[in-house]
Amino acid sequence: MTQPWQYVVSMPQPENHLFNIQLTICDWDADFLDLHLPVWSPGSYLVREYAKNLQDFKAIDQNGKSLNWLKITKNYWRVESLKQTCQISYKIFANELTVRTNHLDDTHGYFNGAATFMFVPNYENHPFTVEIVVPKNNWEIATALPHFENHASIFFADRYDQLADSPFEIGIHTQVKFEVLGKSHEIIVWGDGNPDLGQIEQDTKAIIATEAELFGGLPYDRYLFILHLANGYGGLEHRNCCSLIYPRFNFRGDHYLKFMNLVAHEFFHTWNVKRIRPKALETYNYDQENYTSSLWFAEGATSYYDQIIPLRAKIYGKDHFLKSLGETITRLQNTPGRQVQSLYESSFDTWIKLYRPDANSPNSQISYYLKGELVCMLLDLAIRNSSQNRRSLDDVMRSLWQYYGKPEIGYTEGELYAVIETVAGTNLQDFFLKYIHSTDELDFNYYFEPFGLELYAGYAQKSVYTGISVRSNNGVVTVKSVDANSPAQLVGIDANDEILAINGFRVTAEAFGDRLLDFKPHTEITITLFKQDQLKTVTLRLEQPRCDRFMISEVKNPTPTQQKNLQNWLD
Ligand SMILES: [Zn+2]
Repeated sequence: MTQPWQYVVSMPQPENHLFNIQLTICDWDADFLDLHLPVWSPGSYLVREYAKNLQDFKAIDQNGKSLNWLKITKNYWRVESLKQTCQISYKIFANELTVRTNHLDDTHGYFNGAATFMFVPNYENHPFTVEIVVPKNNWEIATALPHFENHASIFFADRYDQLADSPFEIGIHTQVKFEVLGKSHEIIVWGDGNPDLGQIEQDTKAIIATEAELFGGLPYDRYLFILHLANGYGGLEHRNCCSLIYPRFNFRGDHYLKFMNLVAHEFFHTWNVKRIRPKALETYNYDQENYTSSLWFAEGATSYYDQIIPLRAKIYGKDHFLKSLGETITRLQNTPGRQVQSLYESSFDTWIKLYRPDANSPNSQISYYLKGELVCMLLDLAIRNSSQNRRSLDDVMRSLWQYYGKPEIGYTEGELYAVIETVAGTNLQDFFLKYIHSTDELDFNYYFEPFGLELYAGYAQKSVYTGISVRSNNGVVTVKSVDANSPAQLVGIDANDEILAINGFRVTAEAFGDRLLDFKPHTEITITLFKQDQLKTVTLRLEQPRCDRFMISEVKNPTPTQQKNLQNWLD
């Protein structure tokens, strides 16, 4: 066997948030050793410049003698090796608690491979070992990587991708272990809160079994869920594990169901995007953006199934599903950017847009998660309807798994469309053109009709329309965003303006929406505000209330076909 390159990760003083990383490469046989640290993590499409957290880079030979080195680019180091054993060391500052970054303090250490480990270009298939040196005896190590031989604290990665894809959680944990279809699963929890782990185990098992049934088995030997209970929300998928972060006291009622959606979502990625990958992600380029127009499917289909799978697993019923679907449609219809950016553009430009939202984002962008989910639902309904319930989006997923996922061949946009059309048995070019490449409004009722469902528009609060969204900044009404072409934009109200009064009377963030209920459309109000510290008063002409809430109901007298279609879809 090839001698693996050896990483050692220690954290002797966790309070300083520094991981010490050491890499030993025995008998390097070239004059130079080139080392790169990735700039992004697969699954989270933003250049995060992990090298900004790196310090104290050193290189020595087997006798401890310093080796010359220089930096070639922001994330690229070149060591003069003179054909011998090289030992590289550096420190990674880790004080950002998200699923895709690193965090180390006196309670735990969590790190992502891509944000931590360097790779050697052209040696991506060289194996690695990772030894973890814990700072306290009672800290335990959780990772999806297998143990190296029989060492308790040394792990093995057969190539760099596996190393980059396997986060570590090190500390004191609550742990749940169970089996599904003979495969071992673990949930490792860091932090305190109010989750009922018995319930989570039962529902997670049901989700795993339901997704395995869809794809015909589980494509791994062991799977790990890392759950951080903290002040945050997010998930990141890996091949044999996922990281989840969830608000520590949000495990009751609808919040709990939302947590199970997150579990179903990240687990669905085990197939869709970790193995069934767009062509641009077939081989990851860790040095730069990896452009693909197919994230609407990688994330959109996954978001659609994160709603459908818990329903099939009986974690909630049809009413909750339809209520939640109405809320998703409400979010789409309340985003003016849906008429500006197509799903295709949203996918391609994620590197500069989705992960970098600003006050103009609602006016200029649409999330490929949000619209992708709804477009995938329409595709599912279209396929079910045209095939008289003989086929569905499930068959699209299974075909993609068969032809692209299992052999891990990336699919092109054209191949994805071809698979969908083959399953649907019909030409969908017009659908793709309107809903993926253009910004046409989604015609929900056309697709709902055969299922005896109807979308209707209403009002959250029937209030005059100004186009202003506000947030509270220590009680001060602060403008979050202003709709394009709205009454507020016409008079120059901008994000970050501080609203002090309506018609001369002080207004608070809590009361802002309520005060507007007192006014009629086509009348005028004055708004007094601070704009960049300057006091101003503007006169705003109010418009008719806009429908801002969408709900789905079953038609009163469904036909037998409608009943059958709906049952087939949701029961
Ligand atoms: Zn996702």
